[in-house]
Amino acid sequence: MTEKSLHTILTERLQAVEERILAACQRAGRNRADVAVVAVTKTISPATAAVLPEMGVLDLGENRPQELWHKAEVLPKNVRWHMIGHLQRNKIERTLEATDWIHSVDSARLLRALDDAALGRAKPVNVLLEVNASREASKHGFAPREAGELAPVIGALRNVHVRGLMTMAAPEEDPERCRPTFGELRRLRETLSEILQPPHNLRHLSMGMSNDFEIAIEEGATLLRLGTVLFEGLT
Ligand SMILES: *Cc1c(COP(=O)(O)O)cnc(C)c1O
Repeated sequence: MTEKSLHTILTERLQAVEERILAACQRAGRNRADVAVVAVTKTISPATAAVLPEMGVLDLGENRPQELWHKAEVLPKNVRWHMIGHLQRNKIERTLEATDWIHSVDSARLLRALDDAALGRAKPVNVLLEVNASREASKHGFAPREAGELAPVIGALRNVHVRGLMTMAAPEEDPERCRPTFGELRRLRETLSEILQPPHNLRHLSMGMSNDFEIAIEEGATLLRLGTVLFEGLT
């Protein structure tokens, strides 16, 4: 077997994912421009990840703050970093230096702490509220019932803008079984939208990973978080 270059492998995988995204958008009657990919680089090295911005892939995600800080330091500055994993409050300051998109805000306390930390910044911090829509005990995130109670907390924010909701479906052999979780997030957006005031909005639904992204698109995802399907076997 001939050795394929990293560039060739990534080009082929991105192309294959693109075709699947397009087909899912078509099935759902959605506009391709309304679905963005966040390439989750947690399993690959900074050197491998550095090929992505060269190829025009500028939205990258990490689930561990230290790894995000490290990659953000060594990769080009035009990368838009997305923090997609649990964020402890003692890691807020450095994370905000590297990114202004945080998908994984899972408590009112974190929301307030981010607002305090973001005081005096030129740009607002964009956050998504993580919802445990699959109701697994092991998962971070607001319970769907709890989310409605956040309206006063959100109303008091000055430096943080809520931009949407995020969820992770339970791992399933058959991705079709993730559909109810994604549908629940979409319905929650409808109810919560009514009680949020500008500048807050729930434009984004961050949902869909390698195993289930086509179902997520059919259910309204605007941000897909894709790791394995792009980077499997790479280091
Ligand atoms: C790792 C990770 C992903 C990507 O998962 P894949 O199944 O590898 O595509 C998405 N979201 C979060 C929060 C993750 O930690």
